[in-house]
Amino acid sequence: MAKEKGEIRSSCARCPGTVCYPLAPAGAPMPPVEEAPAFCPMRRFPEAMDRASDAYENPGVREFARLASLQESQCYELDAAGIRTRIPRIEETMEFARKCGYTRIGIAFCVGLKEEARMIASIFENKGFEVVSVNCKVGRVPKEDIGLKGSEKIMGPDLMEPMCNPIAQAEVMEAEEVDLAVLLGLCVGHDTLFFRSCRVPCTVLAVKDRVLGHNPLAALYLSKSPYYGRLNAPGNNDTGVPKVRLD
Ligand code: SF4
Repeated sequence: MAKEKGEIRSSCARCPGTVCYPLAPAGAPMPPVEEAPAFCPMRRFPEAMDRASDAYENPGVREFARLASLQESQCYELDAAGIRTRIPRIEETMEFARKCGYTRIGIAFCVGLKEEARMIASIFENKGFEVVSVNCKVGRVPKEDIGLKGSEKIMGPDLMEPMCNPIAQAEVMEAEEVDLAVLLGLCVGHDTLFFRSCRVPCTVLAVKDRVLGHNPLAALYLSKSPYYGRLNAPGNNDTGVPKVRLD
């Protein structure tokens, strides 16, 4: 059904957020949810909040969540000067894996980041992890097999181009019995298929950004300058393209 313009939608990005993370003494009662804006998801979807709480009753999920929050707090240190960050994400990943008792790590990487994958594999191995790595071209399925025209391939019609195969990457992660799959630089959409197919715990070490050194937020930091000011120009998504469903 078409959405009405001006319809209320969950909009945490536009909220001061004082109701879901009030600065109050530990153990103090939470502010009434009615104090949150009408667009607050806690007000709009109380049943979803209940379902989420129920999900943490699963002992494995609860422990995973506890360790993730413990890891989060251990990424900071408090001293007289205030709060400081402590470690980069690659070390956070290893610390979290150790907390979970995970010893076998799978790296699902884009072939464009092969050198980075090699370096990360060495780092993980030097720190005592077993490492499995699978690149995105695994399965060597030609792009034509999923309906791409020759002219739509990166290098044109004359060269064989295997498609990125995130579903095969996810299958191998499970077949290799990795404890934790770590994504490295998968493309937008290919990462979606990986998440959808992956049946082992997974996390992301880095996302791909071909022009910004795999740091997509650099475009935001430059969006007040002429370089990426175009990000703030209005756009129109009324394309009439039918929605692709993955179910
Ligand atoms: S959960 Fe509610 S109170 Fe918290 S940031 Fe989102 S809208 Fe604001």
